[in-house]
This record gives sequence, structure tokens and C-alpha cells, in this order.
Amino acid sequence: MIPIIRPWLDAGEEEAAVRVLRSGWITQGEEVAAFEREFAAFTNAPHAIAVSSCTSALHLALLAAGVLPGDEVVTVSHSFIATANSIRYCGADPVFVDICPDTYNMDPSRLESAFSPRTRAILCVHQLGMPCDLSAIGEIARRRGVPLIEDAACAIGSEIRMDGVWQKIGKPHGDFACFSFHPRKILTTGDGGMITCTDSHQAARLRRLRQHAMSVADTVRHRANEIIFETYDELGFNYRMTDIQAAIGREQLKKLPQIVQRRRELARNYQHLLAGISGLRTPHEPEWVRSNFQSYCVRLPPDCNQKGVQQVLLDNGVASRRGVMCAHREEHYRALAPEFSLTYSEQVQDQTIILPLYHDMERTEQEHVAMVVRQACAVEMDWGL
Ligand SMILES: *Cc1c(COP(=O)(O)O)cnc(C)c1O
Repeated sequence: MIPIIRPWLDAGEEEAAVRVLRSGWITQGEEVAAFEREFAAFTNAPHAIAVSSCTSALHLALLAAGVLPGDEVVTVSHSFIATANSIRYCGADPVFVDICPDTYNMDPSRLESAFSPRTRAILCVHQLGMPCDLSAIGEIARRRGVPLIEDAACAIGSEIRMDGVWQKIGKPHGDFACFSFHPRKILTTGDGGMITCTDSHQAARLRRLRQHAMSVADTVRHRANEIIFETYDELGFNYRMTDIQAAIGREQLKKLPQIVQRRRELARNYQHLLAGISGLRTPHEPEWVRSNFQSYCVRLPPDCNQKGVQQVLLDNGVASRRGVMCAHREEHYRALAPEFSLTYSEQVQDQTIILPLYHDMERTEQEHVAMVVRQACAVEMDWGL
């Protein structure tokens, strides 16, 4: 079976995990602090705060942005459900805008009509690692005076050209950017997340919020020569990253440039191998972005049945996933807005599939995937006639 993704882990990560286990300090210690520093340096961000997942990162970023119960946050439905859920955790309502039919990212031209007096923030997504139009979205956020949060779960190592300069996603380009280290993403710590931000007070508050809002960090209390009593000055959470995860993350971060380069190479191979399948569309990368190709998502020819194609792939030893989901079609959100629909988001969910792509994928494996996709499309087209 050719899997959809496979983490690239080896002796470096193993030794890092063992080093932490033997050290006697396994959470919220020096490894977490070092991972934060190295991650900030990689993304060019002033501050990075490690947490337990991207979902917890999004939740804390929205709280730090001032999102309160009854507020609205403008975002996309066409994303993993964690994006919308993090808004609901704040007691706020997501207001969904449609995507561009070519990049599958938030359409900035639809953003302002989604604003209301209750709008408190914009949460944009770099879907599947492809950066969204941060110049246009950032301009609207600034003009409207609302914070901008980037769901960069998939986008570590992706770049965007702004003001004529190539910049890493996560700088951040708004107020906060949130990353995921789940194994389905390209840098993994098993589970884990990171928030980057520019404001040092916000960074300090986020570090407290992830640890029950405790006023003193463990490392500080541990090193102190006098007894310190901590306080808990607001409602906080247990969103901690362990030092075992952080040590693995540091090893993964060293390999990231190689991982991204390899994924771009594999994406280029697919583009050639899949050329000529009538009606099939490979990912569209605007000239002002460089994707990390966290996922390789293709749009099937119009008459192809998505599930049918995926079944043919499965029967031939190739794993696939349907395209990105739409939160508004799931029960929790349907109950909030039963009649709601989004043309492009739904079309893309129903007509796209994600193909296998992993660091050590062999040329012959890619050729096999392409051959089976070609065959599956042909079979499905016949059925359609
Ligand atoms: C994976 C993903 C998340 C959630 O990340 P976790 O680390 O699993 O919480 C959020 N948003 C998007 C767009 C994702 O792809």
C-alpha cells in the first residue's frame, strides 16, 4: 500500500527523545524553550510559543486577539474542522466566506461583505500548505482595524512574496500564526503546535495561558534561590508541549529545508506524470507563492465520481483522501445555519482528492500512482457516459 504521508523520522529523533528521557526533565523545560527559539529564527518571528496542538494554538490566539462570546470571526468553511471549532471554543460564531476556485484559499474579494458590527477578527487559512493572499487580506484587516490570525497548520516552510521579498509563512504577517505538528503535516512531534506573534506582552500571556495561567514558569521557579508562590490570574488551560516532543521537533526543524525541497520536487514530478489526463487539474501555485506541498490535491475531471476514483486507487494499493472538508456541512454547523451553502467550497470538496506524497517516495511509486489515477479517471468517465 502506498500511504498518503509517512513522517521522515530516524536516529536523530530517536536520540533526541532518549536524551530527554534520561535528563529527568520531560515537560516545559529547556527543550521547549530551545524549540521555540529555533522555530522563531526559522520563521523570522519575534516570538514563538509551543503548545499541544494547532487547535489549542488557534484557541489561544483567538483569545489573545480579544474574541469573546457573541463575537464573529470571518473565516473559511473549506478547512479542517479545527479552524471553525477553535472559534466556537471562544463562544464566538464563524462567518464563512467562499474560496477562490483555483487556489482553494479564502477569496479576499468576498471578505468585506461578511463583516458586521460583531466582527472581531479574521482567521485565514494557508490550505494544504498553499499561502493565501496575505497582502489583500492583511490590507482589509488593517483598514477595518481587526486582528488577523493565520491558520498555518499545514504551511511551515511555505513562502510568499510580499513587497518584492520572499518571506516565510509565520513571520507572522498578521498578529498571530498557528502551526500543527500532527503526523499528517510535514514537521511532526506526534502531536503539537506553535504560535508565532510580534508582541512581547502577548507572547508572555500566551505562555501563561497554555499552563493554567500560572504566573511563574516552571523553569524560573526551579532555578530560584528563594521560595516563590505562583498565582493564577485568569482562566488558563493545559495546552503544554512536552520536552520529548520539543526535542523531536528540533531534529525535524533541522531537516525541514530538505523536506520542503523534496516535496516541491515530487510535486513537479506529479505535474508531468499527470499531464494529459483530460480534465484533471493539478495544484495551481500563483507566481507569488512557494508551497511546501503539505498535500498534493488534484481536481478530478468533471464527470468523475470522487468515491469511485478513490475506490479504484484503493483496489490498486494507493491510499488517497477526499479533498478538504467544509465545516458548514457538518452537523454542529448545519444546526447553526441549516440553509447555508458555498458554491466553490462545496464543489472543491466533492471534486478533489489528495494523492500520496512523502519524503522517501520512490520514482516508481509516483509512476504507479499516476498510472492508477489515469486508469481510475478513464473507468469513471466510462460509467458517466
Ligand atoms: C491539521 C489542521 C488543524 C489542526 O491541527 P492539530 O494540530 O491536529 O490540532 C487546523 N487547521 C488546519 C487547516 C489543519 O490542516
